[in-house]
Order: sequence, then structure tokens, then C-alpha cells
Amino acid sequence: MKVAVFSTKSYDRSFFEKAAEGSGHELRFFEPHLTRETAPLARGAEAVCIFVNDSADAETLAAVKEEGVRFVALRCAGFNNVDLAAAHRLGMSVARVPAYSPHAVAEYTIGLILALNRKLCRAHNRVRDGNFSLEGLLGFDLQGKTAGVVGTGAIGAAVVKILKGFGMHVLTYDLRQNPACLADGAEYVSVDELFAASDIITLHCPLTPETRHLVDADRIASLKPGCMLINTSRGALVDARAVIDGLKSGQIGSLGLDVYEEEADLFFEDLSNYMLQDDVFARLLTFPNVLITGHQAFFTEEALSAIAETTIANLTGFEKQGRPEHEVSIEAIG
Ligand code: NAD
Repeated sequence: MKVAVFSTKSYDRSFFEKAAEGSGHELRFFEPHLTRETAPLARGAEAVCIFVNDSADAETLAAVKEEGVRFVALRCAGFNNVDLAAAHRLGMSVARVPAYSPHAVAEYTIGLILALNRKLCRAHNRVRDGNFSLEGLLGFDLQGKTAGVVGTGAIGAAVVKILKGFGMHVLTYDLRQNPACLADGAEYVSVDELFAASDIITLHCPLTPETRHLVDADRIASLKPGCMLINTSRGALVDARAVIDGLKSGQIGSLGLDVYEEEADLFFEDLSNYMLQDDVFARLLTFPNVLITGHQAFFTEEALSAIAETTIANLTGFEKQGRPEHEVSIEAIG
């Protein structure tokens, strides 16, 4: 099958070329994001392969359909950037990679927690500058503290397991309980209880209309003062402006982000020669207790191999059976 791969980086190319060996699929790699304007690049392809910041809105889907595309292969878990209703109307199938390496994101989440709590980035910068003062670097023991995990699917469950290993009390919230988390000793509570009682809160639910700005001004007001907030899920789970107010007041003690609501214009590119235009993002960067990375939680060898292999299997499933194994159903709209 001919496939137009959008938002291609060198690492995508090498992992996908390896996974596609012997599959018969012909991959054409393009650097630009998929948008209404770049849709003509898909000319002659039967499938597009897209990532988190590509846009598969109704207009773009109609445009790639015009070029011959019948299948959208997401090489990520989240599918909030695809208009599923429009895909359904257009008779296009959509598939994703539901769980490529939950450990990659879970372990990275813990990395953010540890680095923020013990101020590793500040400490490293100080030592490089010959400053060995410990002023301002005070952390707290995780052991005995309460962590709140919102969303206990594949990634959330892996986070719960690690946090329990630190000896933390773990509160969880999800629409349905995960038996693995209960077995690991997590305690399911209401979302309000979780936000009020946790010393550290980490978000692992998908972005849906219900979860958009899950962390807003009201929710921030309900936090235990000084709470650490971590988001490695999707940027729009958090209202960044409200978070800035929360950081200024001290209600949020520290913030770790691997995702940002307006990341599509920033992340995955080298913009170091350009002036940052996003004032909200720029303000976030000024806080000493904020650690931001550019959507790299998934970025391990194991995850990239699994993403490429599952995506190729989805393409083959669509080509041979008309239905990929990991099809995103129209019901997933919620
Ligand atoms: P998953 O589908 O296994 O788990 C998601 C969980 O969220 C499910 O248990 C679901 O019931 C729950 N959920 C859905 N709506 C909810 C709501 N309103 N409130 C509370 N819980 C709700 O997904 P996963 O593999 O664990 O991934 C979780 C999210 O992580 C993805 O949606 C994606 O946005 C994000 N992600 C980020 C990266 C990264 O590199 N930063 C990589 C992979 C995934």
C-alpha cells in the first residue's frame, strides 16, 4: 500500500523503514505536518500516517480523501487530533497504536517528579557555574506522601506501580477501575477527593471534551497548597493561564509538563533562532519550579520500534482484511 507519512523526523524514517521491510508497503516520507494546505502531498497514497500535531479535521480529511486516501494510521495513542465523525462520514478507517510502551511514558513521568522535587536542573546549572550552595534546593521524601493518578489505563497503571515502589499512598481516579491498580494498592476516590488530598498529581487520561481544562482555576483552588502537578498526557488537560496564576500564588508548588496546549506550533522543531511568540509559554519558562520538555515521554527505542511495528501491522490489516487491528471506532468519540 502507498502511504504518505507526515511530520517525518530522521528517527521516524529509520524505525519505519526497518519495520516495513518485507511488508510490501511503499512509504513516502514528508517533513510537513498534515494540514489542509499540505493534503496534496498525499496524492496517489491510499493511507496517511500521522502523529500528535498533525491535523485530521473534517476539511483535511475530505482533502486527503480527494487524493485517494482511505485510511488514517495514527502513530500515537491519542486520537484527539482526528475528527472521527468526519472520517466515519467519509468512509475512512482510522487506527492508532494503543499501547506501545506505557513504561516509556510512566518512567519519564517519574523522572519529571524526581527532577522537580530535588531541583536537579537548577542544581546541575549551579554546579556548572561553580555555585555549590544548597539554598533553594530543598526537596521532600516521596515515601509516605500521597500521589494522585488521574486515568489508570496502560500508562497510569504503570505509574501507580512505580509510585507504590517509593512507598507512596496512591489515590486514583478513572471512569472505570483497573484491577491491576487495585492489586497494587491504589485507592479509587472521586476526582474532587484526589485533587484535595494529593501532594503530587499526575494526569494520564486522554483529551476528550470532558477532560479539556480538567485542571482549571476552580480545580487549582481546591488543591492542597504547594501540590506538584505533572502532565505528560495532552496539553489541553490543563488551562495554562490558570496554572500561571496558581504558580504565582504558590497554590501549585511545582509543575512538570511534557505537553502544552499550543504545542503544535512549537514542539519537535528547532526554533532556537526565532523569537518565541507564545507569551503564556514564555511566562511558564520563567518560573524556577517549572520543568518543561517538548513531548518526549514516549521517546525510547522500545517505544519507537513498537510504534512502527504496530503501525505497519495496522496498514497490513487494513489492506488485507479491510480492517486494522487497532481501529478507532466511532463510539470512541464519547
Ligand atoms: P489508555 O487508553 O490505556 O488509558 C486512558 C485511561 O483514561 C482509561 O483507563 C480511561 O478509562 C481513562 N479516562 C478516560 N476518560 C476519563 C476521564 N474523563 N476521567 C478520568 N479518566 C478517564 O491510554 P494510555 O496509553 O494510558 O495513555 C494515556 C494518555 O497519555 C493518552 O491519551 C495520550 O494522550 C497520552 N500519551 C502521551 C505521551 C507522551 O509522549 N507524552 C505518549 C503516549 C500517550
